[in-house]
Amino acid sequence: MVIVGRPNVGKSTLFNRLLGYRSAIVEDIPGITRDRISAEAEWCGAVFNLIDTGGILMTANDPLMDQIRLQANMAMSEADVILFMVDAMDGMTAADQELADALRGTKTPVIIVVNKTDNQNREIESAEFYSLGMGELFTISCIHGHGVADVLDRVVQLLPRSDGEVAEDENTKLAIVGRPNVGKSSLVNSLLGEKRLIVSEIAGTTRDAIDTRLKWNDQEITLIDTAGIRKAGKVQGSVEYYSVLRAQRAIARCDVAVLVVDGTAGVTEGDKRVGGIIVEEGRACIVVVNKWDLTANPKSRTLIKDYTAIFRNEVPFLAFAPLVFTSALENTGIKHVVTTALDAAEMHAHRIPTGLLNRVVREASDVKPYSRKGKTLRIYYATMATVKPPTIVLFVNDAELCHFSYLRYLENAIRRHVAFEGTPIRLVVKEASYKAKDE
Ligand code: GDP
Ligand code: GDP
Repeated sequence: MVIVGRPNVGKSTLFNRLLGYRSAIVEDIPGITRDRISAEAEWCGAVFNLIDTGGILMTANDPLMDQIRLQANMAMSEADVILFMVDAMDGMTAADQELADALRGTKTPVIIVVNKTDNQNREIESAEFYSLGMGELFTISCIHGHGVADVLDRVVQLLPRSDGEVAEDENTKLAIVGRPNVGKSSLVNSLLGEKRLIVSEIAGTTRDAIDTRLKWNDQEITLIDTAGIRKAGKVQGSVEYYSVLRAQRAIARCDVAVLVVDGTAGVTEGDKRVGGIIVEEGRACIVVVNKWDLTANPKSRTLIKDYTAIFRNEVPFLAFAPLVFTSALENTGIKHVVTTALDAAEMHAHRIPTGLLNRVVREASDVKPYSRKGKTLRIYYATMATVKPPTIVLFVNDAELCHFSYLRYLENAIRRHVAFEGTPIRLVVKEASYKAKDE
């Protein structure tokens, strides 16, 4: 849900009031709640994301009408429900009409909220806003709190139902993947040997893998083992092909892909291929460098450093994935595999608060502005659209200006604040159909 409206109608007041109703805020990090412009709010069991467009990055000399058009644009592309706020004290203004025009024709439901209806007189006068032609109208007073509950009831009715997604396996799902003979089966056996409790073996759930539920300390994990049924459809000369296929299917339904590689064999094309699938699918990833007992000196820091450098160089697209060195044969490093994977799962579902995100993006673009062909890229606003993987939407003046290398620069800037270790993050560029007068 997005709250739009010209300045001073009371958007931030309502936003803060709605946060007062919340029973759960997901993205809480101490110290940055002050400038929160987006939050999870809950009303009658329905959780929804709330965006206050007061947080849009506009400079002081951007004209009001441009701000309004940008708001409308953002709301229409981001929101399931738009709250269009107007002011009963001021009555109808040109800016309100402008905003109504910008929102006209959208398929997103729009509710007009006439704020500052503090007394009966204003309630009667508020009927003039029907002439905006936007349909439903509610009168509220954010200061007194009257009418707010009715608005929320209506919002919850209008939100799309998310039935069906809920019944899914809630366990953190780890898929053990990698090319043949790197030690996947051996690793799975070690993991199950270390297990606290195997809850159940879900045999035959798929032809591609064996799922095992286990409890690791207090956490429920599902292990997706792609190696265990290797003997099944083995066709001459196609072992690699099927292992990639199995990996692909397992990766598609996991939270964390545990990419097992052979620490004695160097980095191969097969490793890179599976790694590429993990990134494409947007899964979290850790790399298990197995058979480390076979190296000259498994304890040597230098050897670990050297291997890491080679791996980073060969597989730059997995730069976010931590490396864990193991011997499945000697049972070393096995616990570390699970703890690292669970940390990665956490980052995969992590939301960076919108206030912090916008501060980081703004700082980064101030330090190193980007322009091409005489045109400067402007980033108005950044928002965390989804998680798993963390996906950030950037609203910019010109999407074509957003070169890949610049996005990587921004990603690195974000990762300096929240490392997101073990998870890819996605930056999506959206053009705000807003044109400043000077462009
Ligand atoms: P925004 O620019 O739309 O975010 O507006 P603000 O939330 O900052 O509010 C602008 C001003 O309107 C503030 O001084 C608020 O205290 C005031 N205000 C907000 N809601 C009400 C209300 O219901 N009644 C009255 N009388 N004033 C309100
Ligand atoms: P998968 O095809 O990836 O499931 O690989 P397997 O688990 O079947 O292992 C392939 C071979 O590597 C077997 O002979 C294992 O005994 C051996 N192996 C697996 N892990 C290790 C390890 O950590 N150290 C050593 N030295 N050998 C290993």
